[in-house]
Amino acid sequence: MHRLEAAQELHEQRHRGALPTIATAQVGGAGNLSDVPPLQTGEGRRHVIIMIGDGMQMAHEVAASRYLYEQDNGLAFHAFPEHSYKTTWDVSVYQSRAQALGMVDVQYDPARFDSRIGYDPSIGGTAPYPALEDNELRRAYFLSGIYPDSASTATAMSTGIKTYSASIAWRPGAGDDGALETSPQLLRRFYGMAVGLVTTVPISHATPAGFFAHNRWRSAYTEIAHELLTTTRPEVMIGGSWQNQSYYDPADLDQLVASRDYVLVHSEPGVDGGAAILAGAVRANQQQKRLIGLFGDTPDGNFPSPVPVDSPGNPAVKRGSVESPPLADASVAALEVLARDPEGFFLLIEQGDIDWANHANDYARMIGCVSDLDAAVRAVVAYVDRPDDDIDWSNTTLIVTADHANSYLRFVQRLHQGDLPRQESSTYPDGEITYGSGSHTSELVTVHAKGFAAAKLHDYETVYPGLGIIDDTSIYRLTLDAARR
Ligand SMILES: [Zn+2]
Repeated sequence: MHRLEAAQELHEQRHRGALPTIATAQVGGAGNLSDVPPLQTGEGRRHVIIMIGDGMQMAHEVAASRYLYEQDNGLAFHAFPEHSYKTTWDVSVYQSRAQALGMVDVQYDPARFDSRIGYDPSIGGTAPYPALEDNELRRAYFLSGIYPDSASTATAMSTGIKTYSASIAWRPGAGDDGALETSPQLLRRFYGMAVGLVTTVPISHATPAGFFAHNRWRSAYTEIAHELLTTTRPEVMIGGSWQNQSYYDPADLDQLVASRDYVLVHSEPGVDGGAAILAGAVRANQQQKRLIGLFGDTPDGNFPSPVPVDSPGNPAVKRGSVESPPLADASVAALEVLARDPEGFFLLIEQGDIDWANHANDYARMIGCVSDLDAAVRAVVAYVDRPDDDIDWSNTTLIVTADHANSYLRFVQRLHQGDLPRQESSTYPDGEITYGSGSHTSELVTVHAKGFAAAKLHDYETVYPGLGIIDDTSIYRLTLDAARR
């Protein structure tokens, strides 16, 4: 079925009354700044850790889990106690879908909208592939060329407000006054919590930017980095783009270093970046300083991705480079510094190269990147599990999710542990797998939660009553729940 036919079918279903229109959707985040849920003062410290697999969908999780552990649910976050599915539509998606439905005059209104225009579970399904099989309608819906990006989806998760694709914590359609306070900003201002970010891509890239900076355009990398380095100044920043002037102005970094508030660790030829960033954290704690780590001295500013070996029965993933740290080491280094704060901390950790691998339909690289995320989640769980400190699951919430789906990966044959498909660049001559796209899709993604506020995840499954799906704006609410004391 072609895109237009799918849209017509949807339109007719709506007319037949098969899809009741919800006048005002119950999506968290009512769309204006005054809508900050009540934050309560109280005793104790809280720790909120959000880990994002950029562009990761359930099919990628299952693929990596089969490669590493043979089973479908073997990744560290699959063992968390709470799980849900999440919609990822943004304002751009909403308006494109409305148009495709022939609703030419419909504009997204945060006070009054229909979630089923953004994502319709009666077409897209109540679960993502491979939990649900494909059908023609679903395929047409997802491969329609309508999808969100990392900027708007990070904004939804960090502010509870939906915006246009490409906007970084910026109110949709606003002029120069569109900046939205993000959850780490709010937690820092209200509770005095420390805040940090770790990513495998440049620190000024869309996902970390959406939590720590403000801009109408995600491509304004140096402006975003300027805000990070001179204004927001998170207690920890670890990511890519070392010596890459596409992503930051060296004068801003010089100013940060000159302030003597930070320990700077960066890539050096032949030096193990994992050991270096962990040593940097020790130094930062000894000197009571903040920590910045810049690695990934590649043209794209990302950490070279881990490389899985094709050896049936014996999965093995080699580091992408010595100089850039594994995500696990960067994450533990961040935790070591943030843990100093008696009020607790907020930490965003992103494996950003899963998305880049998926855009390239590069299965092997995707497996390497998801396994990097898996190892990082294991390291974070082990860190919280450590006895004899103030950090445990009674005061810590860990959320693992994706910002949006990508690539429409589908399995033709089941691959076993240690097994990779025969791959020539982005083609698969033996046909074990297929890709439907080199772009994002609006498929549902997964959410996994553990710790203090994890069970509250289900309080937000109200968008489509009874279906066990949250909206990405609810991650904002859950973050505030996790910080409450
Ligand atoms: Zn992408």
